[in-house]
Amino acid sequence: MSSTRPCLAGPFSVMLDGIVPPTSLKLDHARYVLTLDAQRRIIRDGSILTEAGRITRVGKADDLASAQADRVIDAHDLVVAPGFVNAHMHISYAHPVRGLFPDDLGSPLVHVFAFQAAMTEEEEYHTSLLALVELARSGTVCLLDPGSTKFPDACLQAYQDAGLRVVLGEGVTDDEAPWTLPRYAIAEAVRRTEQFIDKWNGRLDGRLRAWAMPFSPETCSAELLRALKRVADERGTGLTLHHSSGVEARRHHRARGVGSPTEYLESLGILGPNVLLAHALGLDEAEVDAIARTGTAVVMCPVTAAKGARGVGANGRMPELLARGVRVALGCDSPNNSNHLDLVRAMNMAALQYKDARQDLRQIPAEAALEMATRLGAEALGLGDEIGSIEPGKRADLVAFDTQRPEWQALWNPVGTLVYNADGRSVHTVVVDGRVVVDGYRQTFVDERRLFATVQEIGERLQARTGIHFPLTRWPVV
Ligand SMILES: [Zn+2]
Repeated sequence: MSSTRPCLAGPFSVMLDGIVPPTSLKLDHARYVLTLDAQRRIIRDGSILTEAGRITRVGKADDLASAQADRVIDAHDLVVAPGFVNAHMHISYAHPVRGLFPDDLGSPLVHVFAFQAAMTEEEEYHTSLLALVELARSGTVCLLDPGSTKFPDACLQAYQDAGLRVVLGEGVTDDEAPWTLPRYAIAEAVRRTEQFIDKWNGRLDGRLRAWAMPFSPETCSAELLRALKRVADERGTGLTLHHSSGVEARRHHRARGVGSPTEYLESLGILGPNVLLAHALGLDEAEVDAIARTGTAVVMCPVTAAKGARGVGANGRMPELLARGVRVALGCDSPNNSNHLDLVRAMNMAALQYKDARQDLRQIPAEAALEMATRLGAEALGLGDEIGSIEPGKRADLVAFDTQRPEWQALWNPVGTLVYNADGRSVHTVVVDGRVVVDGYRQTFVDERRLFATVQEIGERLQARTGIHFPLTRWPVV
């Protein structure tokens, strides 16, 4: 790994040395506080006090009237919720070529991974910064990148500056893949995973977690999957992989002489409470049962499923997983798949698509969507004791929405309004560990105009280097 990080950060970071967060912060007189606590209390005219990075008090504003803080934010016009967890999102490589692929291309993955393979350390640093800006400004406080970051040393400064929580790992495979994925002998893949976890887990004052990240059961041998699960178990950390069932995956697994993809993982001992299965489309009843029985977590990407014509009606089992008590998180996948990193829009899609697909208005109420984006998402990442609800003792991770916008009118049910009316653009304030990372719509860790121009240039360079080009639109650009 080269040592270019400090000079990469220089021109773009405007507060490199970090900000000392206020030792205490009060959000006062919030129009509503959506606590997501055990009773799911919604506090009208609520206040929240945070001290030394943790929530110490939450309740009616009158009850906290005497509580003093270094900084007080007038929250009369704000609806405050726990910060969002984006549990499957490829942070590093998609932004400079986002929007390049035609709708009807089919899977863009062969091109996507070719672009990723060509990306330099400096390019990845800048594109990751852009993703962090988009995430922070739409209310995400914690993201999981499923192994796509090539240069974590270079990106560490971006994570540090943005102040978000990050779950990272080294993506590995040891088998044939239709795309350019990092492929190693088993022992090497295991060694790299161990080293990655030992080096990174717990960095950034505990905001960075490192996991084992095999790409998928189709690209990893049984022996590698077993070994990586052992590494995760021994180190008390997690493991995530892409996982889908359905006709095509079953064909692949039948060729291996095993049953469904989920039964295959269970037979290897890969399922369990520290495992997070991504996408999880095409599951049958027995697979849902195996996931629930083993306490395995799932992250679903509703916008990717819809845009990719994945047939949620036939293949989506989100309601059944939730009914079985499975910790289901939401993700935005790659920005080439969902095209955005806005968890509010992902909640909206989850709540709409199951109603439509099943022609049943009872599917995925707004409350269920918000639980997946917050409390359940945190639990799926093994962070349920730390984040995901607004309760004394939890880390001070909050998102506050501005209700002084047309889409928030009229306001009767703040959960329904958030999920069905709003999107991430009404995020006004974001707090992570008691530090205000978005303040009155503004993030302060990067010069956005310069960054946007840089990422556009990176996209041009990547297309030139790889020779991958597409017609830019269906209409003539003159
Ligand atoms: Zn993925």
